[in-house]
Amino acid sequence: MSFDSLGLAPALLRALSEAGYEKPTPIQAAAIPEVLAGHDLMAAAQTGTGKTAAFSLPLLHRLASTPLREGRRPISALILTPTRELAAQVQENLRDYGKHLRISSTVIFGGVGMGNQLHALRRGVDIVVATPGRLIDHMQQRSVDLSKVDVLVLDEADRMLDMGFLPALKRILAAVPPKRQTLLFSATFAPEIKALAQQFMRDPREVSTTPANTVANTITHRVHPVDAARKRDLLLHVLAQDSRRQTLVFSRTKHGADKLVRHLESAGIRAAAIHGNKSQNARTRALGDFKSGKVTVLVATDIAARGIDIDQLPVVINFDLPMVAEDYVHRIGRTGRAGSEGQAISLVSHDESGLLRDIRRLLKTDLEMVAVAGFEPSTPLRLDAGAPRPKQQPRQAGGGSSRAPREGGGQQARQGGGQGRPSHRPHGHPPAASAGDAGPKRRRRRRGGGSSASNGGKA
Ligand code: AMP
Repeated sequence: MSFDSLGLAPALLRALSEAGYEKPTPIQAAAIPEVLAGHDLMAAAQTGTGKTAAFSLPLLHRLASTPLREGRRPISALILTPTRELAAQVQENLRDYGKHLRISSTVIFGGVGMGNQLHALRRGVDIVVATPGRLIDHMQQRSVDLSKVDVLVLDEADRMLDMGFLPALKRILAAVPPKRQTLLFSATFAPEIKALAQQFMRDPREVSTTPANTVANTITHRVHPVDAARKRDLLLHVLAQDSRRQTLVFSRTKHGADKLVRHLESAGIRAAAIHGNKSQNARTRALGDFKSGKVTVLVATDIAARGIDIDQLPVVINFDLPMVAEDYVHRIGRTGRAGSEGQAISLVSHDESGLLRDIRRLLKTDLEMVAVAGFEPSTPLRLDAGAPRPKQQPRQAGGGSSRAPREGGGQQARQGGGQGRPSHRPHGHPPAASAGDAGPKRRRRRRGGGSSASNGGKA
C-alpha cells in the first residue's frame, strides 16, 4: 500500500516523501481510512510504529479540505497528551507533515510562561496540542474556546483515561461539542479503559496492529544480573563498549537520576538528567542536547518514556527496573523505532527479581540473561513466586513534596486528595505516572488498591 492510495492530499504526500516515508506503517494503513471516513476510533499499536502520523495525516487532510474561513479561525482539532515532551513532539510532527498546507497549530503545556500560548490562541489556530492541566488553566481564564472542536484525539489514551487525568479530562470533554469525532491511540488498552472510553465515543471502530503489550521485534533484550552496589560500575563498563553511542538510561527515581549523572560526569561521560523536578526549560535543554549529540547519555525517569523520539536511538538501559511492568514497554519503545534495530539492556539486582518476573510475564517471553564477567552477582536473581521486590521508598516530608510542576491533571485532579480510587482502574495498570513521576511509592500504593491520593498527573 502507498500513501497515495489512501487518498491523502498532494501537499501531504509531498511532505511525507520529503520526510523519507515510503509507505504507511501497519497502524497508519489501518487507521487512516477509518479517520478519513469520519469514524470514532480506538487504535492500538505498539510504541514507535507511527501512531502520530496515523492520526495527524487524516486530521490535516480533513482540515485542508475544509474551505478557509475569513478572519480568526476557531480551534477545529484538539490533541491531548499526558506529557509535555510528547505534546511538543506531536506538534513538531504536525508542523512537518503540514508544512505545505496553510494549517496552524500550537502547543500548550505547563511549566513555561503563558505569554506565547495566549498570543497564539488570540491569533487563532486550527489545531491545539495540549497537556490537560495547562489547558484547563486557559479554559478557566477563558483564553481558549473549545466550542468548535470537530476532532478530539487522546494520544497515549490509556494514561489519559487513568484516574490521575480523568477529572481534568471530564472537564475538557464537557467543553468540546458532543457531536465530534473522537480518536484514541495507545500502545496498551486495558478492557476497563475501553469500557470507559465507550462512554464518550460514538460507535467507535477498533483497529489493532499488534497484540496488547508487545514490543517491536527489532529490539533485542538482555538482562545483566548484578549486585545493586555494583550497578554504577557495570553501567560504565557497558557504556564503554561504544562510548560514542547515544544511550538513554532509565532510573526509577529523580534523586537516583541526578546521582547517576554526577557519577557519569565524574567518569568523563557527557550526561544530562530529565525528570519531573527539573524546570521545563532544563527538560527541554537536556532533550535538545541529547538529540543534537552534545550529551551522549540521557538519564531519565519514566516521565521521559513517552515523547522521546530520537532517530536511530540504538540502546536503552534500565539502570533500575520500573515498578510497573507496562513501563518497561514504554521505556524500551524509545529504541527500535520505525523498524530500526534496538537494544534494551537491564541491570537487575536480586531485590528487583520480582519486577523482572512481572516483565517476563507481561511480554510472555524470557529475556536473555547474561552475567558480565567481573560483575557476577553474589546473590543470584530469583524468578519464582517468592521473588523479592524493592522496598517502598520512605514518604517525603510534606506528603510528596518532591513534586514538580504538573503536566496534566488540572484543578480537580489536583484537589483529588480524597477522591478515592475509581472502580474502572484496572489492577496492575499504571497511573499517569509518566507525567506525574511521583516515584515508586505512589505507584505501589495504587497498585495495592488502597490509595486515595491523586496528584493529578503532576510532573
Ligand atoms: P511514532 O510512533 O508516531 O512516535 O513514530 C515513530 C517514528 O517513526 C517517528 O520517528 C516517525 O517519524 C517515524 N515514522 C512514522 N511513520 C513512518 C513511515 N510511514 N515511514 C517511516 N517512518 C515513519
